[in-house]
Amino acid sequence: MCMVRGRPSMVVKRALRTWRWVCVGRGSMPQPVEGSRRPLPNWSRGLLTPPPSWFLERATLIVPMMTFSASWPCASTPEADLSPHTFMRVGGRVEWFLEPTTPEELRSAVNACRERGLAPRILGGGANLIIADGILPGVVIGTGRMNRLFRIWPAVDGEGSSDQEQDPSAWSAEPSGRVAPADPALDPRLVGWAGTTLPSLVRAARDLGYGGIEGVVGIPGHLGGGVAMNAGGHWGELWDHIELVRVIDEEGEFLDLTPEQVQPGYRNGNLGTRVVAAAILHFEPAPKALIEQRMREILREKNAVQPVSERSAGCVFKNPDLEVSGGRGAGRLVDDCGLKGRSIGDAMVSPLHGNFVVNRGAARATDVLALIEEVRAEVAQQTGIELELEVKRWLD
Ligand SMILES: Cc1cc2nc3c(=O)[nH]c(=O)nc-3n(C[C@H](O)[C@H](O)[C@H](O)COP(=O)(O)OP(=O)(O)OC[C@H]3O[C@@H](n4cnc5c(N)ncnc54)[C@H](O)[C@@H]3O)c2cc1C
Repeated sequence: MCMVRGRPSMVVKRALRTWRWVCVGRGSMPQPVEGSRRPLPNWSRGLLTPPPSWFLERATLIVPMMTFSASWPCASTPEADLSPHTFMRVGGRVEWFLEPTTPEELRSAVNACRERGLAPRILGGGANLIIADGILPGVVIGTGRMNRLFRIWPAVDGEGSSDQEQDPSAWSAEPSGRVAPADPALDPRLVGWAGTTLPSLVRAARDLGYGGIEGVVGIPGHLGGGVAMNAGGHWGELWDHIELVRVIDEEGEFLDLTPEQVQPGYRNGNLGTRVVAAAILHFEPAPKALIEQRMREILREKNAVQPVSERSAGCVFKNPDLEVSGGRGAGRLVDDCGLKGRSIGDAMVSPLHGNFVVNRGAARATDVLALIEEVRAEVAQQTGIELELEVKRWLD
């Protein structure tokens, strides 16, 4: 299928101009006036010679896509390649890829899909996701263009920021230049939109002397994905630092939720089908040097045991109930079953950590998915433990 970029009306005009050019080349119609705003020729009036079948084939592909895309409320790409948007660099295409730039655009995009009877899939950094090869039907909404992080600024009356929690502008816009920023230590909080990358969040917090969040250093992905997954580990979880999360609910409205209302669990933000638009995070003021030192220590430990510099989708399996597994995590179980280094195509169980499958270069999603199933089946056979997937899969 051909790729069509640009505003739909322009695409139609370009396609028709191409056909007119073809006709002119054959001497069958007058030369079009470049830049003319005259109405496009009417096929039924016989101004153009009937197009050949190759043109009609393309036109029938182009026209439905254009009418469909005409009302998307944000940047949209038909048949977009998703693999570059995943950390593992595997996977196929999707019928429509939408890229909102603000929470409001995200909400409009979600609602536009739902009005068409589609349930959009939300793509963050693609760091815990495997997308099947081929073409996914429907719509994926990516948050990559929503990479914005804000300080919470004081209210204009200088009474602090508490009023702004009720004020949607605190979530979505920088304040007017008339308001001086407060001392960062007085209000150690940040507002991040869904596409804020976790590494940039951790760095920004360190630079402001905001401690605690360094526990998630080394975790790739976006804030929205991190909230949805409750990303974290030994050194803390993202939800430990969430004061409020703004989601798009089932009715397509913004809804603000506290951790007490959400009750996130292990690698599960417990948000169901709600879409994360933004979050307010809180921190503990701490000396920057101390935060930096802790980041280094955590990274040193992670680098020693995880294939952090390789293309992967993070941990494949959740750790099982440790009582059942005799205290062994998922990676240890895979290791004990002798499966480290097992490969299908270019997909391989990391020799460094049994719970990571890495792409050695040209792996296809099919290889990765088959390898994961093979490992799961073998662990079940050898230990009787059914490992549960942590990684998300978009198969059809
Ligand atoms: C090298 C490496 C190391 C990792 N280490 C860790 C680790 O230590 N701890 C850990 O927890 N994870 C780890 N991960 C996994 C991954 O980084 C986290 O799960 C991260 O939070 C995924 O975020 P993402 O934006 O990439 O989400 P994606 O992979 O894009 O999506 C994951 C899921 O979240 C959903 N989602 C994404 N954005 C939104 C949104 N805005 N609203 C609602 N749902 C959304 C998606 O639909 C999907 O179901 C690691 C991954 C890699 C590659």
